[in-house]
Amino acid sequence: MMTIQIDIFSGFFGAGKTTLIKKLIDEKVYSKKVMIIENEFGDIPIDGEFLKKFNIEIKEIKAGCICCSTANDFNDTLIEIIDAKETERIIIEPSGVGKLSEIVKIVKKVEAENDARLNMVISAVDVTMYEEFSNLFSEFYEDQVIHASTVVLSRTQSVNDEELQVVVSKIRELNEKAQIITTPWDDLNGIELVELSEADVKQETLKEAFTEITTDEVEYDPERPHDHDHDEFTSWGIETPKVYSLDELTSIFQGLKNEEKYGKVVRSKGKVQVDSDHWIEFDFVPRQFEIRASEPDHTGRITVIGHDLNKENLINIF
Ligand SMILES: [Zn+2]
Repeated sequence: MMTIQIDIFSGFFGAGKTTLIKKLIDEKVYSKKVMIIENEFGDIPIDGEFLKKFNIEIKEIKAGCICCSTANDFNDTLIEIIDAKETERIIIEPSGVGKLSEIVKIVKKVEAENDARLNMVISAVDVTMYEEFSNLFSEFYEDQVIHASTVVLSRTQSVNDEELQVVVSKIRELNEKAQIITTPWDDLNGIELVELSEADVKQETLKEAFTEITTDEVEYDPERPHDHDHDEFTSWGIETPKVYSLDELTSIFQGLKNEEKYGKVVRSKGKVQVDSDHWIEFDFVPRQFEIRASEPDHTGRITVIGHDLNKENLINIF
């Protein structure tokens, strides 16, 4: 039996970590049996249809954040999967506000005591929101950049070269060694991405073998749960039979930019009916609103994630 490889896909809400995982699976990067540990903390989970299609098992940890309040649960889940020896790769998808350094610490500890190896630590970062989010949520936002071995920038097609360069150099300031991927995702080849990220990890491991690692960070201690500022992040969702016109949806999402009224909306996703026989799926991040045609469903669904959300006003606008 091979040593189980563990890959972490971190990223703030809307940065695209779920899309990235699905892309890699869809492009058959994972030929081995995969298990996904998903920390659904206000996030939107990978759809069941997709999991079924690729025969992927998923363990959801919903009760809290795997980097703090449910760290023990996360630790036990990892060990359970490793001990069961039914899978060869584990994908960890932390929530948008998970502190990557804490998650890496837990995985490193598990790695030291079990037949498993931390393989890739990837962070997805929305290039259009970097400036704003790193100012607003620096504690865990920058942590996700600092502790990644590969940073995959999303929505690079939406900025010009100069803007892209500014973000790349800011990321470089925080993390000297990470691979920074700037290719638009439609052109990004999953296999190449993984080869690059894994090669990087191998180099790192070699380096680590020859240099004593000194760190002033505290060791992960399961008895000492810490807290970090993600309690004010909430998600709000509705199921609705309502038929929206595209204009209506567009103006709703324009309206959601009003922070005083709705709170800081960082992400929204949903599937709704737009006329008697058409359905769409939409994806909203503050600088982008994407829609695509979809299959009819039994009811419409809308999820909004943000900081200090005003649920009453959200109900009214939808
Ligand atoms: Zn946490």
